Amino acid sequence: MSRVYNFCSGPAALPEAVLSKAQAELLDWHGKGVSVMEMSHRSDEFVSILASAKSRLSSLLGISDDYEIVFTQGGASTSFAQIPANLTHGFSSACYLDTGAWSTKAIKEARKYADVIVAGSSKAEGYTTVPDFASLELDERAAYLHLTPNETIGGVEFADLPETNLPIIADLSSTILSRPLDVSKYGMIYAGAQKNIGPAGVVVNIIRKDLLARSDNANLPSVWSYANLAEQDSMVNTPPTFAIYLADLVFEWLEAQGGVAAMEAINIEKAALLYDAIDASDFYSNPIDSRYRSRMNVPFILADESLESLFLKESEKAGLRTLAGHRSVGGMRASIYNAMPKAGVQALVDFMQAFEKRYG
Ligand SMILES: *Cc1c(COP(=O)(O)O)cnc(C)c1O
Repeated sequence: MSRVYNFCSGPAALPEAVLSKAQAELLDWHGKGVSVMEMSHRSDEFVSILASAKSRLSSLLGISDDYEIVFTQGGASTSFAQIPANLTHGFSSACYLDTGAWSTKAIKEARKYADVIVAGSSKAEGYTTVPDFASLELDERAAYLHLTPNETIGGVEFADLPETNLPIIADLSSTILSRPLDVSKYGMIYAGAQKNIGPAGVVVNIIRKDLLARSDNANLPSVWSYANLAEQDSMVNTPPTFAIYLADLVFEWLEAQGGVAAMEAINIEKAALLYDAIDASDFYSNPIDSRYRSRMNVPFILADESLESLFLKESEKAGLRTLAGHRSVGGMRASIYNAMPKAGVQALVDFMQAFEKRYG
């Protein structure tokens, strides 16, 4: 068996230790003679797995009792509708920050439920930066302020939050658990699992309890209601049990790495290694405002566009998988989430330098 370095933006690489453990437990979980996939979601065994995932996530992120952790399905794209369906009830508008492809999609869905106030946008700058927080047009009567702290496609990341009394709803799909986070500053955090948590099929939601009252809406589908989901411990219907189990294994792995502060230190090193290599060369470039370059998703282009397909072909041959940029933007993109070891980023940098020597 030979595993490659996988730079896919999602579904993304998982820690090898997690895959090995899942493999070892696949046929017979903890001596029960069944796979997690074959267990009732209401069995004591699965209930203990779900409780473990919640408890590990709580301690990794320091989540207080003011929040509920809820697992949902349908991907973060479903959340784009589910969030306004739950949280705009009783309000006429919701504020959104427009920082790239994912926030644009979130805005499009929210418009089906409420008036969307685009409080700030970096569209005019080609989404290469983040709007100035001092000049945001926030309406304090709105239901919430939604933002996307890491734009996975554009490679733009920001950690600071705007000053506002509105509950902040953040799509952390591609940055959750990559750095410490003050959960108490958010009304709700959500993340599709397949970037930094586990396999596709589950969304992790951290919801401030007072917001659950807003789900009291007769038109809201029962399986979509955050209040229902919280009350029934994510089991309004059958949850994605195997994905939740793998998320628990990833959380356990994160604990063994030293938690999110330790991950952040490694992630800073990995990102610096790659951005420094890009900046040191005229052959490669990254267009993002240096204050907001993503630590997780690093897009770059070649000065000579005609070499792109050769770059992709040769990198693949060198064991560096899925470096093509998103189909909407082209170029290259290296996604270097928690599961990407520093050695993988070093291998990419070595390849890039050798490629430049040959063709530059
Ligand atoms: C990948 C991604 C999504 C969409 O996830 P799906 O599970 O495919 O719906 C939404 N937001 C961000 C920031 C993402 O990276």
